[in-house]
Amino acid sequence: MLQENLKNVQAKIDAALARRSEEKITGSAVTLVAVTKNHPADVITEALSLGVTTIGENRVQEARAKREMLGAVGRWHLIGHLQTNKAKQAVAIFDMIESADSLHLMQKLDEEAAKAGKVQEVLLQVNIAREEQKTGFSPEDYAAILPQLDSFKNLHVRGLMVIAPAADNPDDIRWVFADGYKLFCELKQQRPDVDTLSMGMTHDYEVAIEEGANMVRIGTALFGQRDYSLKF
Ligand SMILES: *Cc1c(COP(=O)(O)O)cnc(C)c1O
Repeated sequence: MLQENLKNVQAKIDAALARRSEEKITGSAVTLVAVTKNHPADVITEALSLGVTTIGENRVQEARAKREMLGAVGRWHLIGHLQTNKAKQAVAIFDMIESADSLHLMQKLDEEAAKAGKVQEVLLQVNIAREEQKTGFSPEDYAAILPQLDSFKNLHVRGLMVIAPAADNPDDIRWVFADGYKLFCELKQQRPDVDTLSMGMTHDYEVAIEEGANMVRIGTALFGQRDYSLKF
């Protein structure tokens, strides 16, 4: 089933890329982050065997349990809110932390990366739709912190991560992705080495790609419903 789902998702990614009305500075390839939260570790093994390169998890504890079972296979991305007291563990586990959502957290990640002798890849999470229940920089706070990014010697800011509000019709939230793309373009003018715009999940990734995403985070469309009774 996963093989079939992967094929379908990949075909939809390609079709969305082909529908882009204009060339985007994010390029013409999309990285698929397979979101395996609330699924057992063996789905990761299966996904990697089918050519998936990148795994997304939203909790440090769950990711750590799976990593202990599987070893260091594939690339691992943290996509959920990170508490500063887990920064050290997160730096030890994740190749990229997509959910850098406060300066305080970034300071802590920078410190822990320095101690670990690592340059930690991060994305700045921006809460474009200003949803109260979601973390992330507001668009103003995001603009205000940009001058400080160079002070983080052990962080490599690769780009932005955006989560759109839930919507029955993904066209209604197209503007969120369009704004995300604009912010990405501005960031790239200041920091030419940024290259990653992570936007889009199962219900909205096609629209996100049309608007310029070059990384999508997909769980349900690949692995089906999550099992919240699993304990890690
Ligand atoms: C769970 C999650 C996803 C994947 O969601 P699906 O709707 O299952 O594709 C993507 N991004 C984030 C930040 C998530 O927490």
